[in-house]
Amino acid sequence: MANVSERTKFFTESVIRRMTRISNEYNAVNLSQGFPDFEPPLELKEELQKAALNGPHQYAITWGAPNFLEALAKKQSRFMGIPIEPQKNIVVTCGSTEAMMAALMSVVNPNDKVIVFSPFYENYGADTILIGAVPIYVHLTPPSFSFDKKALREAFLQRPKAIIICNPGNPTGKVFSEDELLYIASLAEEFDTWVITDEVYEHIVYRPHKHTYFASLPNMFKRTISCSSLSKTYSITGWRLGYIIASEEVINAARKVHDFLTVGAAAPLQEAAVKALYFEDSYYEELLSHYAHKKELFLKLLDEANLKYIDPEGAYYVMVDISEFNVKDDVEFCEWLAREVGVAAVPGSIFFKENIQSFIRFHFAKKDETLLEAGKRLLRLRSARKRYV
Ligand code: GLN
Repeated sequence: MANVSERTKFFTESVIRRMTRISNEYNAVNLSQGFPDFEPPLELKEELQKAALNGPHQYAITWGAPNFLEALAKKQSRFMGIPIEPQKNIVVTCGSTEAMMAALMSVVNPNDKVIVFSPFYENYGADTILIGAVPIYVHLTPPSFSFDKKALREAFLQRPKAIIICNPGNPTGKVFSEDELLYIASLAEEFDTWVITDEVYEHIVYRPHKHTYFASLPNMFKRTISCSSLSKTYSITGWRLGYIIASEEVINAARKVHDFLTVGAAAPLQEAAVKALYFEDSYYEELLSHYAHKKELFLKLLDEANLKYIDPEGAYYVMVDISEFNVKDDVEFCEWLAREVGVAAVPGSIFFKENIQSFIRFHFAKKDETLLEAGKRLLRLRSARKRYV
């Protein structure tokens, strides 16, 4: 019998998404895979209804429907502070997941090196394996999750083709400062390296922190491939609308990759989402205060449960320190937590290259009542653990 490919042997199915299935099995409060349990804006659902009735129902133009591209170019130019041409600088993808994969495939060759900060978002591990690249991991040290400048320079000395920056960071909640980004920019320039950014949490950055778009740093637009999506900003993770923004040269390559990977993102969903891209500034301010409130509420519940955590600067995740439980296997711990305490988390070890079993990741993109229920259950964590050990 023929074997499955070698490349599929080096990574497992997504643990984040497996935790959702485990959570469902035990009827736990699912704070593992990051997606809201509240509704997207009503106007968007109305637009979707209109699109259902009036179309389009056939393929959109491969790299994005013209009205979607135009609205997205306007919105991103406004926030990124750089001119973006709808027909030259954008490819619309099936979520940021495809955007990242297409970005990597567009600029990285097999056996090229790619710098990945650790901890890193789970997908980057599989992404680098699937494109045959060799990751160089650079440690981000908790609690600030900052990098050692010397270590990063040493990584660049290995001549990587690209570096991946997730900002604001998943799972860390780290927001890179402008100084940190300028240092990375100087290395990227010196070593002629592509910079691939994952900025899906661009609008969820808690004050006084500020999001800096890497592409907007001096001279960086030409070497940055900015990936993001509408999933988190408009609470539509299931619509799978993402995009790549880059120079025309990169976009010409990315268009080809995307064309053969997926043909295109769903046409009726692009049509409906145009409305969101024209939302005014007040929408983004409300989104931020909505998440600032959720963060405050959830951190208070963690305090009440006497759990230690790293206060996130952005995104909607929090790394909880479980070192007091002397966990040998945090995957097993998270399964136990879902089963016996009724709250699902993601084992932190899946995000680290290093063998670190002392964190679990919760997300707080949930209704207040859901978070309160999780908080109530977490109060029982210690006594349940004592019975278990
Ligand atoms: N980005 C979310 C997370 O980290 C969901 C990922 C996914 O399943 N696509 O949990």
